[in-house]
Amino acid sequence: MNFCGQCGKPVNFKIPAGDNRKRHVCDHCDTIHYQNPRVISGCIPTVDDRVLLCRRAIEPRYGMWTLPAGFLENGETVLQGALRECREEALATLNEPKLSGIYDIPHINQVYILYRGALQNEDFGTGEESLEARLFSETDIPWAALAFPVITTALKHHFADLKQGLSTVHTDIITSRLYSLHKTTD
Ligand code: ZN
Repeated sequence: MNFCGQCGKPVNFKIPAGDNRKRHVCDHCDTIHYQNPRVISGCIPTVDDRVLLCRRAIEPRYGMWTLPAGFLENGETVLQGALRECREEALATLNEPKLSGIYDIPHINQVYILYRGALQNEDFGTGEESLEARLFSETDIPWAALAFPVITTALKHHFADLKQGLSTVHTDIITSRLYSLHKTTD
């Protein structure tokens, strides 16, 4: 950030009085521009032992596979956001969605919150942000062509649960090291 969104004057990057972190501060209108992690809500849609993945029709990671997920919008609950993404990207609805995992990605200031649920009527399609949508069993998952490390981690958790008949709520931290190990690094 170079300029104040309130008054348009240049901002300074400094620790405001009474704070302990550097912020973008406008000394002209005294606005402190706080920047905080963004929430990405999404779904693990299932049919029996298979999971629905979408191939991205948008950057970043165009052409790679992902779970239906996206940035939470203002005024939405996390669950509403997750179900909206599922509708938009896979034209699908989930039966009884349950919290599946919370994944922190502190080095890029993101938090993923994912829900799992069975596809209603096993019905899905290809939304505008997807090139295709397909069901995959664990052995068919295109592991090397997954868009983001958090998707790999969430799918591993899901299939591990499936084998043991569990429905755990997972928490994990996706590190920058995982990102550097991922085939297509940022
Ligand atoms: Zn200002």
